[in-house]
Parts: sequence; structure tokens; C-alpha cells
Amino acid sequence: MKILVINAGSSSVKFTLFDMDQDVWLAKGLIERMKSPAASLKYSNHLGQKMEKNIVANSYEAAISAACLALCDNEYGVIGSLEVIVGIGHRVVHGGAEVSGSLRLTPEVKQTILDCYALAPLHNPPNYEGIEACEFLFPEIPQVAVFDTAFHQTMPAEAYTYAIPAAVTAQHKLRRYGFHGTSHHYVALAGAKALGRDIKECKLITAHLGNGCSITAINQGRVADTSMGVTPLEGLVMGTRCGDVDPALVLFLCRAGHSVDDVDKLLNKSSGLLGLAGIGSGDMRDIITAADGRNAAAKLALDVFIHRLQKYVGAYAAVLNGFDALIFTGGIGENSARIRTLVCERLGYLGIELDPAKNRANEIVISRNATGPKVMAVPTNEELMIARETARLLS
Ligand code: AMP
Repeated sequence: MKILVINAGSSSVKFTLFDMDQDVWLAKGLIERMKSPAASLKYSNHLGQKMEKNIVANSYEAAISAACLALCDNEYGVIGSLEVIVGIGHRVVHGGAEVSGSLRLTPEVKQTILDCYALAPLHNPPNYEGIEACEFLFPEIPQVAVFDTAFHQTMPAEAYTYAIPAAVTAQHKLRRYGFHGTSHHYVALAGAKALGRDIKECKLITAHLGNGCSITAINQGRVADTSMGVTPLEGLVMGTRCGDVDPALVLFLCRAGHSVDDVDKLLNKSSGLLGLAGIGSGDMRDIITAADGRNAAAKLALDVFIHRLQKYVGAYAAVLNGFDALIFTGGIGENSARIRTLVCERLGYLGIELDPAKNRANEIVISRNATGPKVMAVPTNEELMIARETARLLS
């Protein structure tokens, strides 16, 4: 059973072809700088072959067609014909308050995605265009939408409700939606499995630390709380996003003469590690290098990042009334033994103790065999989760 996964962004399309009989990927690629003369395709397959070339990709149809040509290419391809693809799974960021699981695409589901444009203006429009392109190119192949927000719909009202007038909440559909849901769900399932337990028996804290960062408390397979809110700006410190600030700070800046668009850009694109460190990069590797080189602003950026993370783990330990495992994922969470050490050495009171050798080696379980909560580094795989969801809905 071959499933194609599409993640359509504003100027890029990521694609992965899976063989779900084996639960493995066969080929994957990235089309970048769409709609520009510099559009390019990077592609690799499970045999280790790679190719990169400039392409013409003035539309999502053109970009996805280029992906399909690569999949069927004589030299680099992994399938003889597109007819073997039985389903296409799409990453969709926002499903609003009504969507609590993956859905086969119908006109009604597409309307739901359109209805959520205001809630995810940067993500839902390209996600939708990717769906329309695939429907145009492959009218016979069933398609599925897998929503970043869906897993978080299991959250209780006390965690997702903002303490503002209920009528305003209802009018504008304001609530904690949460994001990275597919990743949190995937690593929670994989982490529980690695512990030899069922997710329904575990209390887990999953920290997705990449360019965007979010943390989720999961109680017996259901989300108890998550750090991102009505938008992906709330919560942890991120590469360019500020995470939690006093909401009055926004009012203060507007009254001080900044336009709403200015403040939006400032908090989403110029803040976080980038804004704090002032070294022209929000990439954690650059921040660590600068901090180690005695750059005081970079050191402060690192400290603020770790402090916020420590605070959330403590809060979620309280929300869960204790927990079985803290799971790190995302580019930083999976790869940075240093960041995991910096936060875990502040969590000793919870019974957490890292095994330095296992941590350095990025093993799955990186804590000592003590009685306290386990600490894990679990590589996320949102594409595989989308493929599994697509296969599940189609079979
Ligand atoms: P992602 O958005 O999940 O691709 O993660 C990107 C982030 O992961 C960037 O901030 C990278 O600097 C960070 N990252 C990747 N590898 C490492 C590493 N070995 N140490 C520290 N940060 C890393």
C-alpha cells in the first residue's frame, strides 16, 4: 500500500512516499522557492540516491507534478507508475474547534479548512492549495487531511479556555488550539512503546523543540495541556517567536506608535532566540556557539530558553500530578545533549537524572535507571504519522 504525504507551505512543498505494508519511506523530497526562477527540487530515495535540480514550479500543480516525475524517474524513481499510490495524506495546520481527528477530504472538510484561514493565515491557505492541486492531478486517488490541531482537541475545557468574556470567546472562536499535535502524538506513542507500555497507561510530557517549540502534557493518551494557544506564538521561547509575554505588552507597543502589523512581525519574526541574542541568527547551534564564546546576549538567550522550558515542565508535572516520562523531540530536542542537560539539571527535584553517556549518544532512553521519571529523546516523524492516519482511514 503506497501512500504519498504532502506538506504544502507558502513557497515550498515537502513530499514523502511510504510503503505502508512495511511502514517505511521509499522516497522523499522538497521543492523550494516555488513561483520564483530559482525553484529547485531536492530528492532522495531509500537506496541512498540523491538528486537536485532547478525546475519550473509556478504553481502547486507544477511542483507536485515535478515530485511525481522524480518518483517515477528511470534512474532515481521508486515506482513504475503513479497508479500504485492508493492515497494521499495532507498536513493541514488548523482544523478549528470541530475537528478532533484526521478526515477524508470532502467538500465539507475543505470548507472547514477554508473557515480556519483567519486562525492560521500563513499555513492553511498553502495547505488548501496543495489539496486542490492533488485533486486536480489525481481525481481518482482518495485524499486525507491530518490536522496539527486535532490531537489537542482532547484537552479539557479548563485548559483550553482563556479567561476573557465568554461571548468574545464564542464570537471569535478564541481558545487554546495547540499546534505540532501530529508530532506530540507520534512521539508519545513511540515513547510509550519504547517503554513497553500503552499510551493509555502513561502520563507524558512531550517537548517539541525545533525552530518552533511547544510542550504538551498527555494523560493516558489525552492532552491535559499544551503551550501554544490560539496561534503558535504562545508558550516556549522559539527561534524567532517570543512565546509567553504579558498581553499588555502588545497594547503598550501599539500605544507607543507601532502598527499592528509591526508588532505581529516583531513578536513572530524578530523575537525569541534571534531577537535576544542579536547575532543575526535564531538557530540554536549558533546561539550555543556564541554563548560559549562569552557573548553575554547569546548566553542570556540560552538562559531564557532553558528557564521557560524548566517552568513549563514544572507546571505540567503539577497538571499531571506526576509523570512517567519527559520526551524531547524536534531538531533541538533530538540532537542537543547540551540543551537536554541544561534543563534536566534543573529538574532533579522531580527525580530526573540524565545518564550522560546515553544522552551524548542520543539514545532513546537517556535517564539513569532510577525510580524517577524517564527522560527520552525520540525522533519525530510527522510524515509517517500522516501516512499511518491516511492508511487507517482508507482501509
Ligand atoms: P527543526 O525546526 O525541528 O528542524 O529544528 C531546527 C532547530 O534545531 C534549529 O534551531 C537548529 O539549530 C536545531 N538543531 C539541530 N541540530 C542541533 C544540535 N546538534 N544542537 C543544537 N541544536 C540543533
